[in-house]
Amino acid sequence: MFNVNTSLQESAAPLEVENANSPTNSQFHEQRLVEQFCRQTQLLKLVEGSAERFVEHYRRTRRPEDLLAPVQVRLDFDYAHLLEQAPRLLQLVLEEPLQFGEAVRYTVYGLVRARLKTAGLKAIDIGQLHAQWRLVGLPYTPCLQFEPRDQCLRLGLSQVQGILAAYTPRETLVLQSIWFCSSGCMRNAIQTSSTDAPLCSGCSRPMSEYQKLRVTETFRLLAILPCSAVQTPRLLGCLHRPKLIRLRAHSHDCELKLGSAYLVTGYFDGSASTYHLEACHLRSI
Ligand SMILES: [Zn+2]
Repeated sequence: MFNVNTSLQESAAPLEVENANSPTNSQFHEQRLVEQFCRQTQLLKLVEGSAERFVEHYRRTRRPEDLLAPVQVRLDFDYAHLLEQAPRLLQLVLEEPLQFGEAVRYTVYGLVRARLKTAGLKAIDIGQLHAQWRLVGLPYTPCLQFEPRDQCLRLGLSQVQGILAAYTPRETLVLQSIWFCSSGCMRNAIQTSSTDAPLCSGCSRPMSEYQKLRVTETFRLLAILPCSAVQTPRLLGCLHRPKLIRLRAHSHDCELKLGSAYLVTGYFDGSASTYHLEACHLRSI
């Protein structure tokens, strides 16, 4: 119990204490749940394997720039395992997928950093870590369906089921680009989206890129029509509008075929200028 204190200066402290103790809101707690789940499943091995490859690569080459290489790890969070072993983590991914993604990123970063420390290497920048997560095996769940027509606009994880009506050509997404100053300052910079040369923080000259350390991924935009558009195409008074979904390459294993039916699990990315769902898994049905 806290005494109510009306003084502005002192009121911050009890709030902080309260947040630290509140299990559902604490990022620390979320990261611990992710870590526990990784340890209970084979995910920890995948993370350690990626960190190990980074260490081995550096030991082989001994080039300082290889300490700026990416650590990529793809983690499939299995719905059935979550339901059985970590129901609170499942709740987090369903209600707060962006927060879940951040918890995964920081947890994996912590695990990788510990591994590098054991190997006697310095910690990497978090921008070098690319933890791509998917939620696989989530069955068709009516209450998660994203249906703007029925005013059903979920903010958490949503599902879209329908026919693939169109897709764009593959576009490239830059996950990481690494830069160095060629005028002798020995400074490096890391960028996680842009490919424009940054200015050196020491001498203000444009920096040069380590081309080999660039990491990219492709994506497509998909237009998914509701299945009813095909089943009852002549229904009067009904406008079938496709839902737009951004599908990154790692989010699916199956082939994309126009006219086929898919179940997509995704969420709206808060970084705004986009009106499409970001897929975190797609499978054919
Ligand atoms: Zn410089």
